[in-house]
Amino acid sequence: MPVFPLSESVIFQCDVCHQGGFVNATTLRNHVRAMHSDERPFVCEYCPASYASCMSLTAHRSRKHNVNKAGEFVPRKLFPCATCGKVLTARSKLLKHIKVRECTRSTIFSSIRFYMSISFVK
Ligand SMILES: [Zn+2]
Ligand SMILES: [Zn+2]
Ligand SMILES: [Zn+2]
Repeated sequence: MPVFPLSESVIFQCDVCHQGGFVNATTLRNHVRAMHSDERPFVCEYCPASYASCMSLTAHRSRKHNVNKAGEFVPRKLFPCATCGKVLTARSKLLKHIKVRECTRSTIFSSIRFYMSISFVK
């Protein structure tokens, strides 16, 4: 390995991926734990994903499975557009949808076609 110019300080290097530049043993340990360790005690109940920290698992759960911190299933709210009937999955998306005037003729037309296919709605 090349000698680092910072001769005074010891540069820690990861044994696994040989990434260097860790300023101390703790930083290196955190890196190993996060990147290479099998130590992932936080396992998702819904899929094989596992995480080294509780926070990451909670984030994964809510993102992937709509489950909150307490492990309760939170049904994803749907936000239908009043103008064209397009259904958005988030309020922010609906607001953006309205803002950028995504409600074009084609969207309206396709949603009418959709309603026509399920029932005769004028
Ligand atoms: Zn590494
Ligand atoms: Zn999962
Ligand atoms: Zn719309």
